[in-house]
Amino acid sequence: MKAIGLLGGMSWESTAVYYRLLNEMARERMGGLHSAEILMRSFDFAPIAELQANADWDAASQLLVEAAQGLEAAGARCLLIGTNTMHICAEAIEAAVSVPLLHIADVTARAIQDAECSSPLLLATRFTMEQDFYTGRLRDTHGIDVCLPDDNEREDVHRIIYEELCQGKIDARSKQRYLDIIGTAHQRGADGVILGCTEIGLLISQGDISLPVFDTTWLHVRAAVEFALESDG
Ligand code: GLU
Repeated sequence: MKAIGLLGGMSWESTAVYYRLLNEMARERMGGLHSAEILMRSFDFAPIAELQANADWDAASQLLVEAAQGLEAAGARCLLIGTNTMHICAEAIEAAVSVPLLHIADVTARAIQDAECSSPLLLATRFTMEQDFYTGRLRDTHGIDVCLPDDNEREDVHRIIYEELCQGKIDARSKQRYLDIIGTAHQRGADGVILGCTEIGLLISQGDISLPVFDTTWLHVRAAVEFALESDG
């Protein structure tokens, strides 16, 4: 199995899920005592979140680029950025390393296409919902036009991610708020739901929702394990 490089800690609540899922899927595929080959750089999220809040994306990119180069030098054969938001730095990372970066929007797009959804709701941080690096990639590279929550809803989705999920807090009222936002979007024509933040799967899952759910964390891990098990031949 090829070693998977993971840029984590953004937040560690979802990196812990990545770690568990990578190992579980490796065991499912290979059996017995097998587990995944993983190289991880786990950041302290507080300074990263501050750079995000200050829109200092160049400084954030520099941190991630250096970490990605470190993972490549240590033997990683592919890279995962374990957060949707920090894919804002994806191009800078791709330019700085020679191993493939498995882009979370690309693996999510493939699942949306397989499910024949045409108008999925995107739940994510404000950065991911409102800047073009993610919705633009889904639209321009994959032909998927996402639905977005309205401004008040985006505010709540974003706040719950940073003030609760990234801090390990799971609150039933927040879950209901997410489900209400999904219900409204369904009425407006959304035909699927992208959990476009790697912590949202801690709060809601397919069992809570009748529309097809695209959990970016799970899809990202599956793509990585498939890549890692492909032969080089
Ligand atoms: N993990 C989250 C995401 O997938 C949010 C935290 C961050 O900004 O990295 O976007």
